[in-house]
Amino acid sequence: MYKKLIIAIDGPAGSGKSTSAKKLAEYLDYLYIDTGAMYRTITYLALKNNVVDDIDAVTKLARETKINLQFISGKTIVEADGNDVTEEIRSQNVNYKVSDVSKIKEVRKALVNKQRELADDNVGVVVEGRDTSTVVFPQADIKIFLTATIEQRASRRVKEFESKGIKASLEDVKNNILERDRIDSTRLESPLTKPPDAIEVDTSNITIEEQVDIILEKVKEAALKKGVKLPHEDF
Ligand code: C5P
Repeated sequence: MYKKLIIAIDGPAGSGKSTSAKKLAEYLDYLYIDTGAMYRTITYLALKNNVVDDIDAVTKLARETKINLQFISGKTIVEADGNDVTEEIRSQNVNYKVSDVSKIKEVRKALVNKQRELADDNVGVVVEGRDTSTVVFPQADIKIFLTATIEQRASRRVKEFESKGIKASLEDVKNNILERDRIDSTRLESPLTKPPDAIEVDTSNITIEEQVDIILEKVKEAALKKGVKLPHEDF
């Protein structure tokens, strides 16, 4: 057993976090943790139970729901208390409410605990979200902060919707992203922010492959420095 790395990738919606984190985790055979999926799950359940504006009820959901994340064939399969909610948590209704739910201190506390438990077992981890490099794993070996222009981010999300057969106007998606950015970066609890030791990568004008390559280079450098063996011989 050799030491493994914690790679934390943060950034706003549509900056390319999920795509690069998934590819990186697959390549390194590391555990992939999509923390946004957890906030989305609690938001979905709160909406479904009609309690989304009731802080105590939402907090209870965050504390008591068993969220299971599985990464299968490039996709995060999400179960809440044994029920598959993979598709439901990506709906527009969830998009509109998730940042409000994510502002709640006790919700964050409950979900951060779950995130840390997942990484407890000397596993290599690629984790992505808004506060993974600042709050969840401040000790992360590699911290990446992804950015991209709002035009790029919105058009990526529209394409994602289209690939699922969902029609969404560029304007609506753009407004939702901007509003989520605003709430996520100005909230009191763990706001989205780039820590001083993070490497910023602007993904506006680069391909996914280039994005992953840039991050991999940083991972290799960190691995070398820390004497960590990576799974691929050619590293
Ligand atoms: O990453 P994704 O777009 O799925 O995240 C959905 C929302 O969940 C974000 O807009 C943010 O409000 C919240 N979130 C968060 N902290 C994280 C990950 C996501 O507050 N670590």
